[in-house]
Amino acid sequence: MTSQSFNPRCPCCKSDSLEKSTEAVDREYAFEGRSVAVSLPAVPVLRCRSCQEVLFGLEADEALTAEFRRLTNLLSPTQIRALRKALGYTQEELAGIMRIAAESISRWERGHVIQSGGMDTLLRVVLNVSEARRVPARLSPLEQASLTYKKDSTGWASKPDVLTSGKPGMARAA
Ligand SMILES: [Zn+2]
Repeated sequence: MTSQSFNPRCPCCKSDSLEKSTEAVDREYAFEGRSVAVSLPAVPVLRCRSCQEVLFGLEADEALTAEFRRLTNLLSPTQIRALRKALGYTQEELAGIMRIAAESISRWERGHVIQSGGMDTLLRVVLNVSEARRVPARLSPLEQASLTYKKDSTGWASKPDVLTSGKPGMARAA
């Protein structure tokens, strides 16, 4: 048994007579409040010999995603991983500096999720500007404790009442 033994069937006629083919694809994606038109003349697909139904798989996804990243000028999964490794950071360390979940880095690098434009910019800044990497990462418990302050007429509180997001480390610094 190899991965080649995977044998999809046509969803329409249930035929297993599918052949490799290509298909022209035009799609529109919403991104940063605008519409991005992705147009490719030959996306790899499977075509049903019986009814001509076209099946889009992983290869098609990857081709469309690569074109989308090119049009929107987003770092590719390979670029993100290479830039991170060139600095010697683990996914967890980079996530700590960016103050995001390590799972996000992992998903971007595997291509499972496309980073937002804002996160792409943050990635570029953190990976290319050493000064940006000196920004404190997640607050240590001691630093979190120092955010407990007294509330008086100036509006300072005895407790950090700003954990509205429910996430640690999100308290306002002042
Ligand atoms: Zn079919």
